[in-house]
This record gives sequence, structure tokens and C-alpha cells, in this order.
Amino acid sequence: MLTEVALAVIISSLMSPVLIRCVSRMPEDKKLWDPPLQCSSCQKKLSLITRIPVLGFFLVHRRCSSCRKPLPAQPLWIEISTVSGTLLVFFFREEASQIVIDLVFVYAMIVITFIDWNVMLIEPRVIVLTVALRLLWLAWFDFHSLLYHFGSMCIAAGAFYFIGFFYETLRRRQGLGDGDAAVIGVIALWTGWESLSMTVLIAALGGLLVGGGILILNNRPLASSRIPFAPFLCLGGGIVYYIKSFPGFPFLF
Ligand SMILES: [Zn+2]
Repeated sequence: MLTEVALAVIISSLMSPVLIRCVSRMPEDKKLWDPPLQCSSCQKKLSLITRIPVLGFFLVHRRCSSCRKPLPAQPLWIEISTVSGTLLVFFFREEASQIVIDLVFVYAMIVITFIDWNVMLIEPRVIVLTVALRLLWLAWFDFHSLLYHFGSMCIAAGAFYFIGFFYETLRRRQGLGDGDAAVIGVIALWTGWESLSMTVLIAALGGLLVGGGILILNNRPLASSRIPFAPFLCLGGGIVYYIKSFPGFPFLF
């Protein structure tokens, strides 16, 4: 138990800077590795303490140690998601190969969520890399279900594309982006196509609650505003995938 927690903490400490870089640099097509993570005000490299996931932010009193300007909050949220996602995978999975591929899933969901939230864009490189890794993993470790999962991805993405297409025709404006179809395809590559309806249901409810709440607070009309949908799909996919891993629960889905 202690070993798992220690491993999860080490892996999330190594991965959160990578995910923070992906979220902040991929949409602008900047290099991921160079320069190192730096303060957005004074451009100085962030201190070692600041880079400790979650705790670092509070140890430096939420300020850059060089110029004392407040640090942005989003990296903290990425770190919180990374640490909790990694811990969850280690709690639910025992086999090393399963842990690795589920971490790929969690990290992909985190990067997709934050990029879509910031710029309303699904980063194609994340989708392609995640799909490739999952298919290779299935071919190597679970060849029997390769076709099932590949088919699930196609069904999910296709169904979602069609729903979006009809929606556009009926309402004469774009509601669901093509990127969202790719995201649901990636999710089905892990959950299988049967869980699709539950994933979309959770996503729609989450989107209505959170998105509607934000729009009402900002006093904007609900019908004409666009809110990113992928964060809620990722949330729904993650919840469904982990509930399914409980032995007593699969009958729900
Ligand atoms: Zn600074």
C-alpha cells in the first residue's frame, strides 16, 4: 500500500510539469522542453520548491519567488488532477501493464480538458498519440479485444458525429465540434461502446450544471453561448471507466 502511494507520488511529480507544458504550449505550437517552466511576469525559471506538485504552490505563498507576482492558478489545478488521477489508478489497478495504459488515459483526459477549456480546441496530436498508444497496447497485451475496442472507437466517434450533424441541420448552427467526436472515440477505446450513453449522459448533466451556472453568473444567454464540451466528456468517461472496474458494479452500465 505504502509502496503504491510512494510510486504514485513520484510518477505524478514527474508527469505534472510535462502536462502543464502540454496545456500551455501545445495550442501555440511552442517547443515543449525549452525553455523550462518559468514565471509569466519575470520569465525566471520557477524554483525547485514551486515545482513540487500541489504543495509547492502553497509553500511559496502562491507567489513567484523572484518577482513576488502571484502565480496563475491553472497549473495548480493540473497538478491536483494529475496527483488524484494517478492515485486513483494505483488504487484500482494491480497489474503494471494495466496501470501504465490507464495512466495514459488519465493524462490524455487532463491535457484535452484543460486545452479545450482554455482555447476551445481539441489538440489533434494528443488524440493521435493516445489512440496509437492504446492500439499498440491492445495488440501486445490484449489482442482478443483489439477489434472490439477499435470498433467501439469508430462507433462512438461516428455516432457522435451524426448527432452533431443532425443538430447542426436542425438548429442551423454548429453545436458540437468535430473534436468532441474524436474525444468520445478515445474514451470508447478504453470503456467500450456499451458505456457510451452513460458517458454522454454524465457529460451533458455536468455541462448543463457547470456551464449553465457560469453563464448565469456572467449574465449571458444560454442558447447562444458556446461552452467547451470535451472537459465534461472526459469527466464522464473517467467516472464510467472507474465505476466499471468495480467487480460489483458492471450491471449498471
Ligand atoms: Zn516572477
